[in-house]
Amino acid sequence: MKLQTYKLKREWVSILAKKIIGILKSLLIYLTWVIAFSVFAGLILFFYLPSNSNLENVLVITLFLCLPLIIIVLFGLIKGKINFLRIPNRRSLLFRSAILISCLASFFLLGVGQSAMAQVLINENSQDRITNSEKIEFIKDLAQKISSNKASAEYINSLDSLSPNDRLTVYYSTEDKELAEKLVKVIPEIEQRLNKMFDVKEPFPIELILYNDLDQFRQSNDIAENQRLLGLYINKSIHMANTKVSEEIYQTSSLDLNLQDLNYEEEIIHTLEHEYTHYYIRGFLAENNLKEDIPRWFDEGLAVYYGSEGYLTDVEFEFPDLKDSAIPLQDLMGYIEWEKNTESETASDIAYNESFMMVYELIKTKGEKVITDILLNGIPKAQDLSTNEQTQFTESFLEQVGMTMDDFQNQVLTKYSKSK
Ligand SMILES: [Zn+2]
Repeated sequence: MKLQTYKLKREWVSILAKKIIGILKSLLIYLTWVIAFSVFAGLILFFYLPSNSNLENVLVITLFLCLPLIIIVLFGLIKGKINFLRIPNRRSLLFRSAILISCLASFFLLGVGQSAMAQVLINENSQDRITNSEKIEFIKDLAQKISSNKASAEYINSLDSLSPNDRLTVYYSTEDKELAEKLVKVIPEIEQRLNKMFDVKEPFPIELILYNDLDQFRQSNDIAENQRLLGLYINKSIHMANTKVSEEIYQTSSLDLNLQDLNYEEEIIHTLEHEYTHYYIRGFLAENNLKEDIPRWFDEGLAVYYGSEGYLTDVEFEFPDLKDSAIPLQDLMGYIEWEKNTESETASDIAYNESFMMVYELIKTKGEKVITDILLNGIPKAQDLSTNEQTQFTESFLEQVGMTMDDFQNQVLTKYSKSK
């Protein structure tokens, strides 16, 4: 009797072990198929799919692939086997269907990812097609961003913080305590000024990070060594160099700057005004349910306008003569496009200056309201996926200003040209 129970137990164990091995085997086969398919399909989609194809194409292709397969599966389920595919029973049919459905789902997701990437790149480069090397560059940038995000998070964790209200948090190193408090003090004034134009009722929470190390500042924010950037606004946070780092950045400049007269703390407040403008524009866009990206020259022009006190009415601004060197505004619309056309420090200087000039003249000749009018009519709704952002902005500009961006730019450049 005892021996029999023991034997029975041993049989059970071996049956169970066989079952588990069987399941693991099936799982392995399943994963091998799905992963191999995904890699293969991913490579084909990435390198051979026309980059201008949109989401609808992906849907149509997936459906097109699905239909005959669904018919075969239904046929098999009713009949119990499919001879011409050598599927002997319903269980094996269900297993194969699971692999197939997973592959199709993976194909669909890859397709959606590919068309989303293409859409972003096409918008940012203002061209109809993107090349494979541009796609590879995009993926590289993405990997770079992920790693710099990690470096940034680690650095921020090591800092002290201060929250004057539930919307603002300032991160700073011990040596910057005073500076952090000073910035917190000027923020209400900055907000008041920006609200005159943008009237943001409930701005979203924002983080302000003060860097006390130049390498950290560059590494965390993916800033090249030849870029003279003192601050930047990225996705609900403002990153800024402290006094020491600002000084170091100015000293690396290749431009002929008068550094003796520079008050770095004042510069930092101007940087804060600049970045805060980017933040308030995002707040305005969010409250009006508009897309977050606006033409870069318009964005930067407004930020320099507030950061250079362009709103002061008793000051006449002396702009440099850019008649022969200005970059066409059409080439400064997308974010990548701007980066591409402002690689040298001189080009970057020109781009910021001319953008400021345009915004300054727009406000001076048409009044402050023209800015929000252009945005309200020129930026597509957040959920609108089909409108070309740049075309809509260009049309809105023409409508609100009464002349094309090109003509307006020429008029302003001539106005400030010494040679006329
Ligand atoms: Zn800016």
